[in-house]
Amino acid sequence: MIEKIRETPEIYNIHIPLPNNPLKNLNCYVIKTAAGSLVVDTGFAKQECFDALTAGLRELDVDMDHATLYITHLHADHTGLVDCIRTDRTRVIMGAEDYRYMGRIFNDEIWSEYNRRLIEEGFPAADILTQKKENPVVIYAPKAVFPAEPIKDGESFFVGDYEFESVATPGHTPGNTCLYLRDEKIMLTGDHILFDISPNITCWPFVTSSLEDYLISLDKIASYDINLALPAHRKNDMDVYERITQLKNHHVKRLQEIAAVVKMKDYQNAYEIAGQLQWALRENTWQTCPIRQRWFATGETLSHLDYLVQKNRIVRVKDGELFVYRGK
Ligand SMILES: [Zn+2]
Repeated sequence: MIEKIRETPEIYNIHIPLPNNPLKNLNCYVIKTAAGSLVVDTGFAKQECFDALTAGLRELDVDMDHATLYITHLHADHTGLVDCIRTDRTRVIMGAEDYRYMGRIFNDEIWSEYNRRLIEEGFPAADILTQKKENPVVIYAPKAVFPAEPIKDGESFFVGDYEFESVATPGHTPGNTCLYLRDEKIMLTGDHILFDISPNITCWPFVTSSLEDYLISLDKIASYDINLALPAHRKNDMDVYERITQLKNHHVKRLQEIAAVVKMKDYQNAYEIAGQLQWALRENTWQTCPIRQRWFATGETLSHLDYLVQKNRIVRVKDGELFVYRGK
């Protein structure tokens, strides 16, 4: 399905389905100019995504030989099909920091470090192996690092007469980006700002506090002049500045909730703390919900615990093999 969003410049949204995923769909934006098209993000390396993307590009008559493909961040639902749609002549551009991290993922530095940390924070080691086999983040990722031009914060590139600025917004991933079309005041917000779901903020290896980075990046986007915000998933039907305030409030509440659980009982580990929080688990309880959901939820809890430790509001100590938390 293709939706036309703007007449000048011509902007379209190709809806890429993400079956069995709470994000529901990826919005692949196509901006057509006289000098070629800009395509933003791709979908998972999965047949349904490939079919929707290639049908959409065909319908919009996008010539990949003269196209620029911009990737907002390293997650598989954004990068999965880069190698399937690019030609040798496609210009591929991606934020420098996430491009570097993607290389480290293929060296197996990131997920092994991430899972090692989850285990020392109380996550059952046996479940780690199971989730690896079924996690879409892993199985629908590209098979190798694709060639791309790494772009730094504030740098821009042209597609036809239109100048696009890459804005580094670390948090959701360490090198997450938004893309700004200043002349039209249009911000492509990637996964940094979603409108009817809050972006997942996890505890990235080799990052001190992903949540602190994320909150700073929300303020950064609030400082831009934006008429139209286009998110990478689902719809946008509200004011972007109002949404930024909502997202900040969401994390403040989450921090309060987590600090309260820590203070209720000293020396609990992160996995035990995660199990006492409010999650949208449908009909499941913490004990019966799929491993993948517990894996995401524990990562999300840890990004908040890291923030509280960093701000000196709680203390993290080692108890045997595991890390545990207590109030100040
Ligand atoms: Zn993402």
